[in-house]
Amino acid sequence: MEILSENKEEEIHVLMVALSSQGHINPMLRLGKRLVNKGLHVTLATTEFTRRRMLKSSTINPTASSISISGVQVRFFSDGQNLDYDGKVNVDSYMENLANFGAISLSNLIKEHFPNPEMSVELPGLPLLRAEDLPSYFLPSNPFGSLPKLLSDMFQNMKKYKWVLGNSFFGLERDAIESMADLCPISPIGPLVPPSLLGEDEDHDSGTVEMWKRDDTCIEWLNKEAPSSVIYVSFGSISVLSAKQMECIAKALKNSSRPFIWAVKQPSLPEPDGAGQLPLGFLEETKDQGLVVSWSPQTKVLAHPAIACFITHCGWNSMLETIAAGVPVIAYPQWTDQPTNAKLIADIFRNGLRLRANQDGIVSNEEVEKCIREIMDGPKSVELKSNARELRVAAREAVAGAGSSDKNIQLFVDEIIRSCGSIVKGSCNDTS
Ligand code: UDP
Repeated sequence: MEILSENKEEEIHVLMVALSSQGHINPMLRLGKRLVNKGLHVTLATTEFTRRRMLKSSTINPTASSISISGVQVRFFSDGQNLDYDGKVNVDSYMENLANFGAISLSNLIKEHFPNPEMSVELPGLPLLRAEDLPSYFLPSNPFGSLPKLLSDMFQNMKKYKWVLGNSFFGLERDAIESMADLCPISPIGPLVPPSLLGEDEDHDSGTVEMWKRDDTCIEWLNKEAPSSVIYVSFGSISVLSAKQMECIAKALKNSSRPFIWAVKQPSLPEPDGAGQLPLGFLEETKDQGLVVSWSPQTKVLAHPAIACFITHCGWNSMLETIAAGVPVIAYPQWTDQPTNAKLIADIFRNGLRLRANQDGIVSNEEVEKCIREIMDGPKSVELKSNARELRVAAREAVAGAGSSDKNIQLFVDEIIRSCGSIVKGSCNDTS
């Protein structure tokens, strides 16, 4: 609902949303008309599917994107279906598409026609966060009900924790870390990435667990490529991109004509509608240009001199790894903390660019191509690369002897030893 104060009269504008169904639309219109008669402004938003049905019944102007029915403004938002879709064919898939795409196109409709004040959240130590920058589990669209509760329980108890160790480093998140000092001090002890990424010997990398088999052909392949020439793409271990997202990235990589490695992990469960799958023919069309693997040795790939940039979903591990490797980023966040991480990349760390979705909620291939050009050799590339290099140095300094993270680990260890000592002493006294 929007309240306008033009002409010193308050106008109340009500937005109603109706599902694409004959039985829903008319009662909503009747209610809308009653509200109009009582002096309110009313918009009824319904789906393109409804519009197509209305067009077939020849009652409205086929070209209108909005119509007025008895004083109610009717507007249409995309339900994510092809124009020839017939709702009876597969109601389940229609509803799923409506949930995925309808929500986005409805919010775009609201943004376009109801310029409500932009909601934003101001937190100490962080940039101003708009809805699109917030962790997805704080948004109404979050499907995982248990997560906000789990986090809120954890935060409620924060004052009780003696130590909170953070997988980050002071130089990276200085403002956020300092802002927590009174509430619950955080001791950054990272980045907890393979030591070789921080300049140590590769032998020190051992002692980790791999959940998927790494395809080491990546490194042989990279050895043949020119320095700073290859785009690395990965969306981590959980995210599964829609068929449309896969198609746009594939097209962008192909059109960029630059060498690439794309780690395309197969979804753990079968996904509907081609999600997570490469477009048909892509492998053949790009066999001389790029390499597709199902699971890469990511940290080795990022450390390779042939890598120029990383298109990432902004999982926190991938963030720290690319920071430690000094590789600039094209941020393509999906969910959880990733949108906030992408915001940090673009506005605070300034070691990369964030891809923007179009009004249908899709990151187009043109947008990906534009960011690839910009990060490779556009006007901002020098600054982005230089910031990425500076962060790499800062990460190494943090973990080196007497660096900020090393000192925090030492303080933690000292306290454990002290408190264990006093426990042992206390128990000795008890028995004496
Ligand atoms: N990773 C990898 N090979 C791949 C893709 C990812 O080794 O092909 C590793 C990556 O180096 C990182 C982890 O998987 O350490 C992914 O963690 P992150 O927090 O970035 O994302 P998540 O998988 O939790 O979404």
